[in-house]
Amino acid sequence: SLFKMKSCFIEFGINMISPQSQAFRAVLFGECMLELQGQAFGAMQQSFGGDTLNTAAYLARCSASTGLAVDYATAVGEDPLSTELLRRWAQEGIGCTLVHRHPRRLPGLYQIQVDPQGERTFLYWRDQSAARAYFDEALTPLEAAADTIDLLYFSGISLAILDGDGRDRLIALAERLRARGARVVFDNNYRARLWPDRSIAQAWYDRAYRTSTLALLTLDDEMLLRGLSGEAQGLDFAHALPVEEVVVKRGAQPSCVRMNRQGWTEVPTVPVERVVDTTAAGDSFGAGYLAARLQGLAPAEAAAAGNALAARVIQHRGALIPHAAM
Ligand code: ADP
Repeated sequence: SLFKMKSCFIEFGINMISPQSQAFRAVLFGECMLELQGQAFGAMQQSFGGDTLNTAAYLARCSASTGLAVDYATAVGEDPLSTELLRRWAQEGIGCTLVHRHPRRLPGLYQIQVDPQGERTFLYWRDQSAARAYFDEALTPLEAAADTIDLLYFSGISLAILDGDGRDRLIALAERLRARGARVVFDNNYRARLWPDRSIAQAWYDRAYRTSTLALLTLDDEMLLRGLSGEAQGLDFAHALPVEEVVVKRGAQPSCVRMNRQGWTEVPTVPVERVVDTTAAGDSFGAGYLAARLQGLAPAEAAAAGNALAARVIQHRGALIPHAAM
C-alpha cells in the first residue's frame, strides 16, 4: 500500500523526494503546552494542547491507513511530564524522533480557568518553555533530518515563539525543502500578544507566505494582523498572496479556496446545531484538508473534508476528541 500511495502522490504531482525513507513524511513544527483546567485552588484536570500538535494528531488519525508518516518537531524537557507528553503523542501515531529534550527547560503551561458561570479564561506560563529554545542547538533534529522531509507545516504561533535567529532558521529550512520540491504549509494563526508589534509579525508572515506552497488562513486573524476591515478586503488580500494554493477559514461561513491565480471556490461548512467547544476547529480543518489533498482529492473536496472534521471537533469538549467520535 506504500507503493500505491507513492504512485498516487506522483499522479497528483507531489514528487516523492526521499528515496531513503519509506513513507511520505510530513513534519509539523511548533509548541505543545501542558494544560490544566479547573477552578482556582480546586481540582485541576491535566491535558495538553497546541495548534500544530493538534493538527499533527488529526493528520495522523486521518491518514492511519495511507502510510503517511507524521512527525512532530518541538522541544520538551527531561522531566516526567515531558516523558508522558511524548508517550501520548506516540499513542496518537505521531513520530517523536525530531523532538529535542532540553536539559534545563520544561514544557510551557496554560490553565483554563473556569468560573462558576462557565466562562473560560486562559492563563499562560510559556515565556521560558523548552520549545522556544528549539533553535538554540547548533543543528536541530529538524534540520538534521531535512533530506527526509516531504512536507513541512508550521504556523504563525510556531514563528511567534522563536527569536529572530530561530525564525530565520525555520524559514531557511522551508526554503531549502521547497527548492527540492517538498511541500511547505503555513497556517496563519495570529496571536497578537505573542508579538512585540504588528509590523514585525507582518514581515515574518510575508516571508512565510513567500516560501509556502499552501497557506491556510483564518480570515479574522489575517485581518487583525494587516489592519483590514471588512471581509471583502480580507479576501482580496488573501487572494493576492504569492502562494499557489490558498484556503480561507471563516468560522461557520463557507470556506474559500483558490489555486494559482484563479477565482475563489466557496465550500459550505457543515451545519452544527450545538457548538460545544471551538478549540482546535481551525487545526483540525487543516489536518482534514491536508490529509485529503495528500490522498489526491482536489482543493474543494479537501475543504469539504476539513469542514466535516472541524464540525465534529467543535461538538466535543477539548482539542482532541475521542477516537470513537471521529
Ligand atoms: P480558527 O479555529 O482557526 O479560528 P475558524 O473559526 O474559522 O478558525 O473555524 C475553523 C473551521 O471550523 C471552519 O472552517 C469550519 O470548518 C469549522 N467551524 C467553525 N465554527 C463553525 C460553526 N459554527 N459551524 C460549523 N463549522 C464551524
